[in-house]
Amino acid sequence: MPHVSTGELLRAAVSQHTPLGLKARSYMDNGELVPDELVLALLEERLQSADAQRGWILDGFPRNVAQADTLEQVLEQMNQRYDHVLNLEVPVEIIVQRLLRRGRTDDSEAIIRNRLEVYQAQTAPLIQFYQQRNQLHSINGHAPVEAVAASLRQAIGG
Ligand code: AMP
Repeated sequence: MPHVSTGELLRAAVSQHTPLGLKARSYMDNGELVPDELVLALLEERLQSADAQRGWILDGFPRNVAQADTLEQVLEQMNQRYDHVLNLEVPVEIIVQRLLRRGRTDDSEAIIRNRLEVYQAQTAPLIQFYQQRNQLHSINGHAPVEAVAASLRQAIGG
């Protein structure tokens, strides 16, 4: 199954200087969410490609409740669905350490902390959104890679 990361799709648009990439760039540089309509346009195009017709793993999407609502509509129109929602839980200070080591251009400590604030305000409400629908698996992400992989596999019943 293809790994579909909206952050990666956006970074590709930025590096190719597409009109969408030019609009998205300043949001990403500041650790803010890119406007929903831009992200949705990229995602819809990606989900329509041939390799995405038999499943996918969405990563970094949805990031707010409006995106989650739109995802339901988009998938219905495309006659697709998802089976699992996975929430990887990691203590905040461990996240900061990990991202600083990764060293992406938007991984300065100030921007990371802003992304975490945006997460609390806009993305965290999705936990309840998917819990209410009985669709959420919470996974301890503060463990060795093999252990996290095993928990993920177990959550999706594989
Ligand atoms: P990521 O690669 O998931 O860490 O995303 C990097 C940046 O891309 C984020 O800080 C946002 O600016 C933007 N981004 C990625 N996914 C989304 C999304 N679903 N909605 C809005 N902005 C996003």
